[in-house]
Amino acid sequence: MLKRRGILAIAGLIAVFTILHLALSPDRYAPRLLGATTLGGAAFLLMTVAVLLSTRAKPLEDLFGGLDRMYQVHRVVGVCAALIAFLHFFTVPKALPPEADPASNSLLPSVPFGILGLVLLVIGLFLALNKRISYSRWRPAHKAMGLVYLLIIGHFMAAPPALLDHASPSVLLLIVAAAVGLPALFYSLFGLNRRRSHSFTIEAANPLERATELVLKPVNGLLDFTPGQFAFVEVQGKGWQEAHPFTISSAPGENRLRFTIKALGDWTRKLRAELQPGGTVLVRGPYGRFDSASAGGKQVWIAGGIGLTPFLSTLRAMKPGDARSITFIYATRNEAEAIFLDELKARSAELGNVDLIPLLSDHGDFARVEGIKQMLAEPLAAYDYFLCGPKPMVDGLIAGLRKAGVSRTRIHTEAFEFR
Ligand SMILES: Cc1cc2nc3c(=O)[nH]c(=O)nc-3n(C[C@H](O)[C@H](O)[C@H](O)COP(=O)(O)OP(=O)(O)OC[C@H]3O[C@@H](n4cnc5c(N)ncnc54)[C@H](O)[C@@H]3O)c2cc1C
Repeated sequence: MLKRRGILAIAGLIAVFTILHLALSPDRYAPRLLGATTLGGAAFLLMTVAVLLSTRAKPLEDLFGGLDRMYQVHRVVGVCAALIAFLHFFTVPKALPPEADPASNSLLPSVPFGILGLVLLVIGLFLALNKRISYSRWRPAHKAMGLVYLLIIGHFMAAPPALLDHASPSVLLLIVAAAVGLPALFYSLFGLNRRRSHSFTIEAANPLERATELVLKPVNGLLDFTPGQFAFVEVQGKGWQEAHPFTISSAPGENRLRFTIKALGDWTRKLRAELQPGGTVLVRGPYGRFDSASAGGKQVWIAGGIGLTPFLSTLRAMKPGDARSITFIYATRNEAEAIFLDELKARSAELGNVDLIPLLSDHGDFARVEGIKQMLAEPLAAYDYFLCGPKPMVDGLIAGLRKAGVSRTRIHTEAFEFR
């Protein structure tokens, strides 16, 4: 779940800058210039936040509620920065104030830096939000957005004194932000944001219905994780390209690490078709905060299709005597796609506190709030909800639960996409 304190921290930063800029800038600034530079500064601070979020830093994961949430905020903050930068462009005076000395107030190179930065920002935003572009093409293009950040730093650092007082507290705040943002940018661009890799040998690639179970034998040691967390998987060898995120479906402490991977696109289909035992895989992580252990005693888990994986790990890790009472709805199209159903049934019976309810949409059974209400002994608002599955299903459930009076803080979701 996205944590409110992360959003408040961003809002607080923008508020501090705005107050400093409006209250402590030189009196000679005309109101329009003051407004335009406030917008420009706010846009730059949001860009800095987007850069910081791309570092995948652990404290930021805590602040925002997981890496998937950080990337969602990264995207929203990037869009807001671009919109505000646009407003800045249209409001900023296009000439120096009449009393300013042109010799000591050159608009070069500040103006070309700003215009080029804005043009690249628009192109970058179009690419970033266009889901039809494949991830492997999108990623390098998105990384090129780092250039926009450099241009914008150049834009305000070279701004003439008549338009921006570099000694004022608000501009000093921008300079501090740039001093933090620049190393963060290079840290992410050069891949230093990846967590330490753990090496594994592929022991088996078990075919399942439209999916593969990857069984990995550790080379150096086990990965320390909690159920519900995910990691980046890098297959070593030609043609495998970038790392892909997958939820760990084995339990912590098992002597094998397992991932269950649905064949959805090029990489996952290649994995299903070509991956052979004996190869090497690097796993980086763990990441994520989709942890049902710390929530209330009455829980409803809803898995849609491959959204089963975090629950699979949790069920495999749970011990008899667990104090929670769990209703576990596993929604798939048909029985064939309900992978691991026999294991889930056996595990639920063994644990005693898990009521497993498979729903097959081919039989007309969907995961909908009205139906779920009938399955529960108490009112909907009495439970904590853990949702993982296709976005339309999860969005529909969140809307339905909120409408039924369930607090947002009791609805926990794991997004299977970053873009
Ligand atoms: C936190 C998290 C946990 C996930 N857990 C599982 C799981 O347990 N099992 C499972 O089957 N799938 C899981 N996924 C989804 C899985 O990562 C994608 O299905 C897979 O990367 C698709 O790659 P592709 O090239 O085959 O498909 P494509 O068609 O290229 O991509 C399909 C989707 O996956 C995204 N994607 C593609 N490549 C990457 C990448 N390198 N990094 C990030 N996103 C990418 C794309 O943006 C697109 O939205 C998870 C995703 C996330 C973010």
